[in-house]
This record gives sequence, C-alpha cells and structure tokens, in this order.
Amino acid sequence: MGLSPAELRDPLPKIDLKDLGPSELEAFITSFGKEHYRAIQILRWLYLRGVSSVEGMTNLSKRFRQELSRVSLISVLKPLHIEQATDGTRKFLFELTDGNRIESVLIPEKSRITLCLSTQVGCALGCRFCLTGKTGFKRDLTVSEIVNQILAARENLPHGTSITNIVLMGMGEPLANYTNTMKAIGLMISPDAFKFSSRRVTLSTAGLLPGLERMAREGAGFRLAVSLNASDDETRSRLMPVNRLYPLREILRVCRNFPLRPRTRITFEYVLVENVNDSPQSARNLLKILRGIPSKINLIPLNEAPGIPFRRPSQERVREFQEILMEGGLTAIVRTSKGAEISAACGQLRGKSPVLLPS
Ligand code: SAH
Ligand code: SF4
Repeated sequence: MGLSPAELRDPLPKIDLKDLGPSELEAFITSFGKEHYRAIQILRWLYLRGVSSVEGMTNLSKRFRQELSRVSLISVLKPLHIEQATDGTRKFLFELTDGNRIESVLIPEKSRITLCLSTQVGCALGCRFCLTGKTGFKRDLTVSEIVNQILAARENLPHGTSITNIVLMGMGEPLANYTNTMKAIGLMISPDAFKFSSRRVTLSTAGLLPGLERMAREGAGFRLAVSLNASDDETRSRLMPVNRLYPLREILRVCRNFPLRPRTRITFEYVLVENVNDSPQSARNLLKILRGIPSKINLIPLNEAPGIPFRRPSQERVREFQEILMEGGLTAIVRTSKGAEISAACGQLRGKSPVLLPS
C-alpha cells in the first residue's frame, strides 16, 4: 500500500497501541480487515507478555506486522530511579517523553502486593494537606502512561510474585482525567489484557461530582473510594477547596445511589488532621452522614511534610476516633502509610528525584 504525496510530506503521527482501550484496539485492528481475535492476540502480547515491538508478535503474519509497524508504535516506561524503604515499599520515578515526572508505589504486604498508580502530572484540586496538590497541575496522563506504570513495576517484582491489587491513589485526581483513566481500567480488568479482577482495582476520588455521576450511570464494576476527610462542609472546604464546588451533601447523594455490586461497599478515606477533623464530635457526625450508605472507613493519620501546615494527631486520639466509629457499627481501619521514609506514603508524591546527599 503506497503512501499518498501528502502523507509522504507530512506523515501522520503513529498511534501508540497502548493508548487504545480494549474496544478501540478491536476497532483499529478490524479496520485493517482483520478478524476480532487478532485484537485479542495483540492485547495478550501487550499486557500479558509485555512485548515492546510489533515484530515480537509472532502469531501475526509478517505482512500484517509490517503494516502495523508503519502506523503504530508501542511505548515503554523505564524507571529513572527506584527507591526501597525498609518496610519493603518501593517507589518508582518515571520521566515521561516531555520531561515531566511521575511516581508509582509498590506496597508488598503479607498476602498481597498493591501498586499505587498516578493518573495526572500534579493535581489541580489543591487539597491543603497533600504535596501533590501543593505542586499544582501540569497535565493529564495518557492511557499508555497509566498502564505502562503497571508493566514497569511488574518487571521489577521479586521473582515468583505478582501484583495483586491496583489502587488509583497516586498523583492526580482520576476523575479529572476521566476518559483515559476509564480506558486504562478497561485494560486492567480485561480478561485478555492485565486480567485483574474488578474487585482488586480501586479508584480513589476527591469527589468530583460530574465524574462520580457519570461513573454511577455507566455502572463501574471496580471498587470506589471517596476521600471524605471531614464530616461537615466547613471543615471539608478548609481542607479541600473542591468542596465549595461539590459539597458533601451532593457527593453523599451520589454515593447513596451508587450501583454497587452485591456485598461491596464504598471505602471512605479520612485523613486525620490534628485539631481540624479528629474530634469525637467529628466521628459522631461521620456516623450520622454515612447512615444508609454501605461503607467502610480508612482512617489515614496525616503524613506530615515540610510546607504542609498541619499535624498528625496522637495515637490515642486516632484510636478514640476509630472506636466511636466502630461502636456506631462502621468498619473503620487505621491505615498506617507505608514508605514514609522515602516519601512514598499517601500525599507525599511529587515526581521529584531524591535529593542526593554527599556521602
Ligand atoms: N486524588 C485522589 C487520589 C489521590 S490522593 C483523592 O484525593 O482521592 C490519595 C489519598 O491520599 C486520598 O485519600 C488523600 O486524602 C490522601 N492524602 C493526601 N495527602 C495526604 C497526607 N499528607 N497524609 C495522608 N493522606 C493523604
Ligand atoms: Fe489532588 Fe487527591 Fe492530593 Fe487532593 S488529595 S490534591 S485530589 S491528589
């Protein structure tokens, strides 16, 4: 198939196959006159085997591989730096093709290995306790930049282990990058791509209402976590400016009607901040506002950082808060963030290289 003079002068940019969600990849492959199962073969090469070139897809004809190579490419993300904390947590720093940097965190626990992914470079929502928010927003990640974090982390796993859970809780607000995030999740849970069970993929949002409503309409099968962080609008707006636009009542209304799968609950994250949202009264109020919503609470004692104008409450205060919730019938788990010593804990991701100290 020859190129037209216009294409020779100004060739179309190649399509990154990893920027296509499962159904888009199928449409792309069938546009070559190929069968549906060819798209499945390609998904498997890309995400189960992790090939980095079309030439490596040896069950496709040579001619088709040549055709595909002319119009498409397969991007890879190589970590610029990997840091490991004493608790086993690993932080990956990636440099994107435009020089921007993002981070992912791999958290090994007794019975699972969780990968925490970024969905944006920075974040526009500016929560006052979060370093990602403090650095501001640069841009959305592409689908390939989201899924390549999984492939890169997978290459660096200890032998014989695999990633069991994915959480979209790294840099950025996933629902502010709705389309790319959903395509990436589509690849995560596709039986022909990453093959994660949808119960093991969790999207965490600060509560962007239009995105939440869209997710509710489209019937998300994966798990939902909502960062609540306060039980009244005044406190929440103080911590999370986005609450002025989308107040608690609206977010909880969508949560109350969210189409959950049987036996699943919404996880509400609550960063405990000393003297701001950690009082017994706040805990009682939380019980009240969550009534009627199948919920479970993750209490995250604040990870302090330079430039963050808040403190972490004492352990007793955290325990007291937890006990009030449990006595009120809620499941409340205190999450001690892992990897704090390498700035890999919740809210500590900035996409910066570690400062190298002279030895
Ligand atoms: N933007 C999304 C996902 C990324 S933030 C969201 O806000 O949900 C992931 C989690 O880290 C959120 O629950 C957030 O409240 C929490 N977090 C942010 N900064 C933190 C900090 N300094 N200490 C503890 N948790 C923090
Ligand atoms: Fe953005 Fe989430 Fe950080 Fe808020 S907590 S600034 S929404 S990344």
